[in-house]
Amino acid sequence: MDLVHVLRKQFGYSSFRPYQEKIVTDLIKGRDVLAVLATGGGKSVCYQLPALLRSGMAVVISPLIALMKDQVDTLRSNGIAAAYWNSSLSGDEQYKVRLDIRDRRIRLLYVAPERAVLDSFISLLRTVPLSLIAVDEAHCISVWGHDFRPDYRKLIILRETFPHVPVIALTATAIPAVRQDIAGLLGLSDPSVYIGSFDRKNLRYSIVSKEDPRSQVLAVVRRHRDESGIVYCGSRKTTEDLASWLRTEDIDALAYHAGLPDPARRSTQEMFKKQDGIVVCATVAFGMGIDKPDVRFVVHYDLPKDLESYYQETGRAGRDGQPSECVLLYAASDIPRLYARIARENYDNEQLRRAAREKAGHLARYCESPRCRRRTLLEYLGEPYGKPACFSCDNCLHPAERIDGTDLSLAALSCVRDLEGRFGAAHVADILTGTTTPMIRKHGHDSLPWYGMHHGFKSGQWRDILTDLQDQGYLARGNGDYPTLCLTEMGESALKDCRRIIIFDPGRAKHPETEHVSCPGNQPEPGRQGLYDRLKALRNTIAGREGLMPYMVLPDAALRDIARKKPRSREALSTIEGVSRAKAERYGQELIAEVQAYASTEGHIREKPATVKKALQAKTKTRAPPGKTTDKDLFDALRTLRSTIAGERGCPAFIIFHDATLREMAKRRPTTSEAFLKIPGVGKVKLERYGERFLKVIRLGHSG
Ligand code: ADP
Ligand code: ZN
Repeated sequence: MDLVHVLRKQFGYSSFRPYQEKIVTDLIKGRDVLAVLATGGGKSVCYQLPALLRSGMAVVISPLIALMKDQVDTLRSNGIAAAYWNSSLSGDEQYKVRLDIRDRRIRLLYVAPERAVLDSFISLLRTVPLSLIAVDEAHCISVWGHDFRPDYRKLIILRETFPHVPVIALTATAIPAVRQDIAGLLGLSDPSVYIGSFDRKNLRYSIVSKEDPRSQVLAVVRRHRDESGIVYCGSRKTTEDLASWLRTEDIDALAYHAGLPDPARRSTQEMFKKQDGIVVCATVAFGMGIDKPDVRFVVHYDLPKDLESYYQETGRAGRDGQPSECVLLYAASDIPRLYARIARENYDNEQLRRAAREKAGHLARYCESPRCRRRTLLEYLGEPYGKPACFSCDNCLHPAERIDGTDLSLAALSCVRDLEGRFGAAHVADILTGTTTPMIRKHGHDSLPWYGMHHGFKSGQWRDILTDLQDQGYLARGNGDYPTLCLTEMGESALKDCRRIIIFDPGRAKHPETEHVSCPGNQPEPGRQGLYDRLKALRNTIAGREGLMPYMVLPDAALRDIARKKPRSREALSTIEGVSRAKAERYGQELIAEVQAYASTEGHIREKPATVKKALQAKTKTRAPPGKTTDKDLFDALRTLRSTIAGERGCPAFIIFHDATLREMAKRRPTTSEAFLKIPGVGKVKLERYGERFLKVIRLGHSG
């Protein structure tokens, strides 16, 4: 069977992602599978495609109600009969699902683990043929994973009840102990195991020295106009302060943390999913249940807990495979503070404290080392990178210069040797810089010959040299409780032979504020931006009409392709990557009409606010004196325009302009961009985005 053909027709993709085809083939043959693929690796297709090719209904276990609905909506948008059954359904809806199951009208059924193990549910399943059982987020079965859920342990009953139905377990968790738990506790029988790479090639990692964090966040946000992103903050207060500051800069920013009331949290999530250009300033409470594919940036305003968390949190960017960036703001004082916190914290046992310290050490090295970030991250996750560098992270794009550092290195190595592996890098650096600290006085280390060797260097620069020497294998971390440094054999022999050592230039500027190469996905096709924007507006209208998230209608990349290729027929449209046959059928007419309308005007601005004009004229006729509308009428007309735009963008009206701003517009009646900009609540971005349309209505109001 030509699987690629089916993939193309059902999902609109022209090729498989790594491992997808193998997994699909195994499942079709009836074999159990354990699939460990990174976020964005395309796990869903792995079971959705075989579900369509085997007879019977597939049961998909999914832990999050919100995600179930999104998955089902996405499948339905591709014309696939899918349903979910969970506590959010009313009695009537549950009854309908039950009938649909009985009458074999469903190809994929999503359920929560608690329901999947109910006797009544299993009895129902016994009455219909099953194609496969998929257990998503399968790491929830393991206490070693980051999200243990006891209900997952009961799922083995499905395997026992349906021994001939293939089971696929899916997870993005890299830890080997978790893999073993999954296979054992789900009762997989001789599963084929596929472990994909955790390298997220489309993510660009960089670290910026935290100096003016708000402006630094703003710089990232501005690079991604109209795109969505998350800024992770260390405290609830920071999320709120930062979001409100960003709003004064005209950014659609919202705060999210566990302390906010439920409805507020839900609405923020919905808005983030539905709309472009929303920036959520959040604690790590935000993330689970968000599988928005087009998050273009993740900023860490504060240091993450550890590197694994950092990998998971940044992993929320770019699930659709398009270029996205991950920026971490890092202050030199962060790491000492982290150690101090670990020292204060109450751990159940000392081993946990040691583990925390160890993780802090890895995080520190990630932040401070001039080596490739991607390599460091992957090696930490246990995946050998195989190349010295990625050529896309900040350290690879702006490599620190390398110099002959023999003198400096030998001094550092000698100092470490004299300390006999009992002290950490910070203390070694203090000695080398000649700082007087209580520790140094206590141990008399100011009498070492290396004390104050290079007054010109700051402690951080010595730390970099030490990290570099560690990277090159001259130094290693000691095995004790504290992150101590000791000489390796290689270090010993380098000292003995006075070997020449090349190091990163310690005098380099640290973490230059990267003059970012903006993500290629961002750049509009020259001359095509107009059509792309119009297609986006159309997509949002369709999404609103059909109750779907915009990306479920069509992904950004597909819109960009349509704008470029301008297809004039459904056939041509269905060759675009990401357009399934069902979508070409359903939305083809509207999309092609938009393309044609654009081509006929080649980018001239359409006379859009016809409804607004009408509304305005209707009002003028009844109430206003000839020649000029009243403020109230103009205000109403502006509100109508605002609703139209909100509809197009699929967002709440207040995100466009607040009532107070519209009222000021109606009162002051600006007719030029400069005057418009002076209205409180109008910033540069909003002027650019909406100015022309609002000015037009105001001018109309003048002439009546
Ligand atoms: P995961 O669950 O592994 O994070 P998803 O199944 O949500 O990944 O897929 C991530 C994104 O990749 C989705 O937007 C999906 O539509 C897209 N995708 C999946 N498979 C392919 C493919 N073969 N070609 C192109 N895009 C794909
Ligand atoms: Zn790199």
